[in-house]
Amino acid sequence: MAFEGLANRLQDTLSRWRGKGKVTEADVNEMMREVRLALLEADVNFKVVREFVAKVKERAIGQEVMKSLSPGQQVIKVVNEELTALMGGTQSKIEHAKQAPTVIMMVGLQGAGKTTTTGKLAKYLQKQNRRPLMVAGDIYRPAAIKQLQVLGEQLNVPVFTLGDQVSPIEIAEQAIAHAKENRLDYVLIDTAGRLHIDETLMGELKGIRDTTQPHEILLVVDAMTGQDAVNVAESFNEQLELSGVVLTKLDGDTRGGAALSVKAVTGKPIKFAGMGEKMDALEPFHPDRMASRILG
Ligand code: GDP
Repeated sequence: MAFEGLANRLQDTLSRWRGKGKVTEADVNEMMREVRLALLEADVNFKVVREFVAKVKERAIGQEVMKSLSPGQQVIKVVNEELTALMGGTQSKIEHAKQAPTVIMMVGLQGAGKTTTTGKLAKYLQKQNRRPLMVAGDIYRPAAIKQLQVLGEQLNVPVFTLGDQVSPIEIAEQAIAHAKENRLDYVLIDTAGRLHIDETLMGELKGIRDTTQPHEILLVVDAMTGQDAVNVAESFNEQLELSGVVLTKLDGDTRGGAALSVKAVTGKPIKFAGMGEKMDALEPFHPDRMASRILG
């Protein structure tokens, strides 16, 4: 279950304060010491934790007392609001180009779930009566093209491929032309991943970006890798200027460190969360719902 470890830990800590009739500054400090430890254990970036704790303290200590809530509840409310803000505040939707097709580049390291997420996103768009095209731009991993074709058949979504002997830039360009001719309104470009970030990978991605001028560049990262996911996001963002992040495998992430750090560290919002291997296991990312899930 997503965030289970963090949720248990925080709920445990905070429940002891919920009913308190009076909360002193020393109480808030004590509470925040525990929250800080819980967040660090959840693998949240330490700078993010420090700023978060400072903000909550400042608001909780200075705030007016509201009659409808106990003082303990009031501090918890501040924690909830700041967790929501940390994850981006409001939901970040994907772009819809004024003139179709909307071009979305999917980038990420191998194994993060890029191809699977491309399929999930196609299904998500299809449900909204959009007409997506999936583009097989990963010509290096032997099974990648086939994997996308299988997903395409399963979802009844067209897949554009020129095999593995044509450059991904050329493939992407021709795919967009194909989408225009066939009145398809979303072009989802599955790009190559590597085991590590390297110049060749980035060079090729920049080439596709400069040629296709995508409306979205979505980085797919594995939430279970915690701060590594955040570091990957920072590097990709520096090189490519991302428009957003898709966090995969949140279903298996008990800690939540990536989800809580990525926006604060990179400035780029999490747009979707992968919640399982099935094609319908993709959810728009709602910071407020995630915060409530964590705090119970
Ligand atoms: P790529 O190399 O980045 O294209 O990765 P794939 O799309 O091939 O996915 C790698 C593995 O992660 C596959 O076994 C997927 O089923 C799995 N996967 C992808 N997204 C999720 C998710 O949200 N939850 C879970 N549990 N598994 C996922």
